[in-house]
Amino acid sequence: MSESKSPFTPISSLGEFKLIDRIVEGFECVHPSTIKGIGDDSAVVHTSQHQVITTDLLTEGIHFDLMYSPLKHLGYKAVVVNLSDIYAMNARPKQILVSLALSNRFSVEAVDELYEGVRSACKKYNVDLIGGDTTSSPKGLTISITAIGEAPYEKIVFRNTAKEGDLLVVSGDLGAAYIGLQLLEREKQIFLENPSIQIDLKGHDYTVGRQLKPEARMDIVEILEKMDIVPTSMIDISDGLSSEILHLCKQSNVGCILHEEFVPIDQNTYNTALSFNIDPINCALSGGEDYELLFTIHPKDAEKIKNHPDMSIIGEITDVNLGIKLHSKGDNYYDLISMGWDNLDVEK
Ligand code: ADP
Ligand code: MG
Repeated sequence: MSESKSPFTPISSLGEFKLIDRIVEGFECVHPSTIKGIGDDSAVVHTSQHQVITTDLLTEGIHFDLMYSPLKHLGYKAVVVNLSDIYAMNARPKQILVSLALSNRFSVEAVDELYEGVRSACKKYNVDLIGGDTTSSPKGLTISITAIGEAPYEKIVFRNTAKEGDLLVVSGDLGAAYIGLQLLEREKQIFLENPSIQIDLKGHDYTVGRQLKPEARMDIVEILEKMDIVPTSMIDISDGLSSEILHLCKQSNVGCILHEEFVPIDQNTYNTALSFNIDPINCALSGGEDYELLFTIHPKDAEKIKNHPDMSIIGEITDVNLGIKLHSKGDNYYDLISMGWDNLDVEK
């Protein structure tokens, strides 16, 4: 738990152009739609399909903490959170642009490390790095990534098209990234109080990994395509299940019943939540940063995914007048509210 120990070559000793040359090295454009990548005033992309475009801005101290986020993981995560938004439209990402503002606290080696993560995400998700911008900043690190994806128009899935009678489905499991964050924050406090104490995250690889190095659900989008399912609506889970269900239902002008008993929570997440005195369902509802896909399907498709180990049917879409409800394990119905993860009652 400390910043990189690699050698420190100031960025100023290299200059912006040499730094860009160094970044570009090792990146290769693979998509035929990438006509011109890095190296000119603009990149050029040619595609026969519709383009799907998204951007995200990450600021040190707000979105990440370099005390426990290795730069390589941060580069990887910054790409992944953008790709997740492209998959959430049922599209395929093809290109990204990465812009950086760096203070003089960051070395050439630190930038190398960050781009190692960007490179490994590009490789895994098969996307081309086609440009960006690099500038200095008085303080800290800011990363802005733009992702461009493609899809035929009839395959693009929006948030506002869920219909009464549809089933609500979620991929993977929820709440783990939030628990990973609680563990990292706890160990950070212990480390700050006594730097000689060995940090202990044993047995928590899964939750900590979900926080530091999440994946986008490319596999789910591919499986749905193979099953010949086009979701009726879709959104990715960046801010917690409650908040995303509310977006989906409000934009589609429908109601919903979410069954608590079907919300997928990993066993280690569950147990660790209890050890923090948090109700595990609250981690899933309000935790955030899971980057799973939440979507609705026509009931005729239920049979196809019913037994899939990585997809759970967690509820159904109802008439708007029935409201957006949580059906608890105790058989009560509550209004589903969005608390946001800052408001979870955590005992550290
Ligand atoms: P300009 O002055 O025209 O904005 P730059 O010198 O900033 O050009 O960039 C030169 C090339 O390097 C462009 O293709 C740009 O997209 C790319 N580039 C600059 N910074 C980055 C970066 N951080 N990551 C990836 N590509 C970058
Ligand atoms: Mg520029």
